[in-house]
Amino acid sequence: MCRLHRLLLLSALAITATDANAEWYKADRAIMGTEVSVELWHDDITHAELCAEQVFTEMRRIDALMSPFKPDSELSRINTQAADGPVIISNELFALIKESLKYSELSSGAFDITFSSVGYLYDYRERKNPSDEVIHKLLPAINYHHLLLDEKNHSIRFSMQGTRIDLGGIAKGYAIDNAVTILKSCGIEHAFVKAGGDSYILGDRSGQPWMLGIQHPRQQDKVVVRLPLSNVAVSTSGDYERFFIENGERIHHIISPKTGKSATGNWSTTVIGDNATTTDALSTTLFILDLKSAMALVDKLPGIDAIIIDAQGEMHYSKGLMDPAEVTH
Ligand code: ADP
Ligand code: MG
Repeated sequence: MCRLHRLLLLSALAITATDANAEWYKADRAIMGTEVSVELWHDDITHAELCAEQVFTEMRRIDALMSPFKPDSELSRINTQAADGPVIISNELFALIKESLKYSELSSGAFDITFSSVGYLYDYRERKNPSDEVIHKLLPAINYHHLLLDEKNHSIRFSMQGTRIDLGGIAKGYAIDNAVTILKSCGIEHAFVKAGGDSYILGDRSGQPWMLGIQHPRQQDKVVVRLPLSNVAVSTSGDYERFFIENGERIHHIISPKTGKSATGNWSTTVIGDNATTTDALSTTLFILDLKSAMALVDKLPGIDAIIIDAQGEMHYSKGLMDPAEVTH
């Protein structure tokens, strides 16, 4: 039985009655350049607040470490020094960069944190993008093979001048996973944590699975499908979050390493899996791949499901998901 079938069955059997004194607590903050929200079930408001604050503190810590916009972040130190020689870095950053390379290998370079060698020149708020000439010059710096990790010294070096990295395609998922660990050790059993397009659903919602809506990529406030889910991570990458239109072309934040320009094959990609680091990296990866390669990748990864809305607005479900008609409400 697939995951959604199981969940639908679960929801039909569920008893809605729960502790009469308990209630949902919700808080949100602007961190990591996005909205972070925590919703959790509690019977002690003070404790709920404390747990949510611990999550926000962790997200701020990760942002301070990994933001490409903060000149004093560890990531910025790498970007300014690693082309000149090895830079010793924290175990945490070393591990996440290594994890990123796993998705580069899996996708033959569609996911590539060195996209930033060109990507840093885009500013979606200011409607800025690099000229074709500049892209052409910097494109050779995009290549994850330029990242030389030394396991023994925990250092990183760039084999090419001009190479830069950005963990924007995986760091929010990593932050969500850390948040879930914090909530569990805080004694929380039911929660929904979200940072931009990445989320984790812990437990259920008052005896029912959470109904997670996938946004219509071209009509704000419209949901294309609702999925009943619990104890899973869900990430969506879309071309409608950070973008501007120039000469009829949508310039957005997911960059094809082949062209140095915004990927054009899909409108949105959603990945469901057991941890958010994976679903975050994979949703970005699938967005860049063409539909056939994206679905072939998903189908070979155990425990991963995906919903892709292609550039014609057609929805595609991975094999692990049931007929969409049965989950649309
Ligand atoms: P969001 O950040 O809105 O949750 P995604 O998870 O899809 O969306 O990540 C998009 C981010 O991924 C971009 O803002 C950028 O930091 C990073 N990114 C863009 N292109 C690539 C790429 N080819 N490989 C890895 N990361 C990328
Ligand atoms: Mg992502």
